Amino acid sequence: MSEKKLNEKKPGHMTPDEFRAAGHAAVDWIASYMEKVEEYPVLSQVAPGDIRASLPEKPPETGESFEAVLKDLDDLIMPGITHWQSPGFFAYFSANASAPAILGDLLSSGLGVQGMLWATSPACTELETHVLDWLVGMMGLPESFLSTSTGGGVLQDTASSASLCALLAAREKATDYKINVSGAVQRERPLVAYTSSQAHSSIEKAIKIAGLGSENLRLIDVDENYAMRSDALEAAIENDLAAGRLPFFVCASVGTTSSSALDPVAAIGEICAKHGIWLHVDAAYAGSATVCPELRFIQEGLTHADSYMFNPHKWLLTNFDCNAFYVRDRAVLINTLSILPEYLKNQATESGSVFDYRDWHIPLGRRFKALKLWCVIRHYGVEGLRTYIRNHVQWAQDFAGWVDASEDFELTAPTPLSLVCFRHKGGDDFNQKLMDDLNEAGDIYLTHTKLGGRFTLRLAIGTSTTERRHVERAWELIQEKASRL
Ligand code: PLP
Repeated sequence: MSEKKLNEKKPGHMTPDEFRAAGHAAVDWIASYMEKVEEYPVLSQVAPGDIRASLPEKPPETGESFEAVLKDLDDLIMPGITHWQSPGFFAYFSANASAPAILGDLLSSGLGVQGMLWATSPACTELETHVLDWLVGMMGLPESFLSTSTGGGVLQDTASSASLCALLAAREKATDYKINVSGAVQRERPLVAYTSSQAHSSIEKAIKIAGLGSENLRLIDVDENYAMRSDALEAAIENDLAAGRLPFFVCASVGTTSSSALDPVAAIGEICAKHGIWLHVDAAYAGSATVCPELRFIQEGLTHADSYMFNPHKWLLTNFDCNAFYVRDRAVLINTLSILPEYLKNQATESGSVFDYRDWHIPLGRRFKALKLWCVIRHYGVEGLRTYIRNHVQWAQDFAGWVDASEDFELTAPTPLSLVCFRHKGGDDFNQKLMDDLNEAGDIYLTHTKLGGRFTLRLAIGTSTTERRHVERAWELIQEKASRL
């Protein structure tokens, strides 16, 4: 396209026809990206500052055409993209995407509704409630999480936000809502929270944000499989009680970030029930697996949980961001987070017969996120989602088998689902170099952790474009690279 044509743009809004043309171009662009995503180096190769240096210093004084924007997306932005949707993306946990979720997100943007109250778009609230109730059945979650029971679910942006809400609700319940008012109770009797030493950092962050003090978070020891030791939890609680402190919150992890370890939720739940402590379960990554009945062993004991969450944006084909957060008693969450200023008052809220999801999370405003999840569930069906998860779990088991059978590599943790933790027997520096070289070569992208103080490679399968052949290829590349180091 000529420069002249690119700059031909009428002032003001796009007309619907112009939007139609630009929208088709954008969808075409995404479809072409899907076709060639495998060809890019997975990890972006730019240096810090490269992308900004390529951008104009000042914004345009007059509007530009959408074609010009798309061209710059190709030329200036794409070099700085790490390809999370590449089949060779095995880093962190995936942030998987799918065509129906992209379309659902687009439709949500098209409607542009802000669903802070039921009244601000009834369908935004009711579809969300409905889809979250569907998930309870699809995943065998406790019936108390149903909106028709005492609890209910809500879509949050991330697991971190959901855990913060759980922590705040637990804090208010434990102190009869007095901290919300004066903050005094905490000073009289320190509140103490517990999670394992392998828990995600978002729990410590939530403690900091809630103003409870990092010193009041106990990081409980783990066993040889990196799962929380329930006997150590019990001992820590007894110790705090004896010292006059107030244990109020336990976070169990179903699928830790480092190694997908599974805390013993049933045993932990019994301890919480005995002491009247709020049990929150973080299944950010692993929760999606329970769409498969044979994998529901990971959530045994979940009926004890006061709150639970998982990220469909990690492993249930729903584009970032999408966290499903459930509580057993919604009244506690709502009492913790609800504030009703004059300008939000309306008949539906006052009738008490609707959910206003602004009372279920931190922000006031909210996107119509349920649309993308609804599109995903309707497109794949429950069976399709099961097949997707089963494949990933099977390929991870295969990969773990190859590692186990190899003379040079070893597994460093169990592989209950689709994350394989392994290392070359050559030591920490060798593994670091192996990972750096593989990532620089660009065919695959791996990240690491430390387990038992030792550098460990992580191969996390969870991207929607990944097929078994990509996992086979990853193993070949890893072995090849290691043999040349
Ligand atoms: N919890 C666990 C177990 C995780 O693995 C992660 C991220 O990987 C999180 C929480 C935080 O997720 P989010 O980015 O949705 O806050």
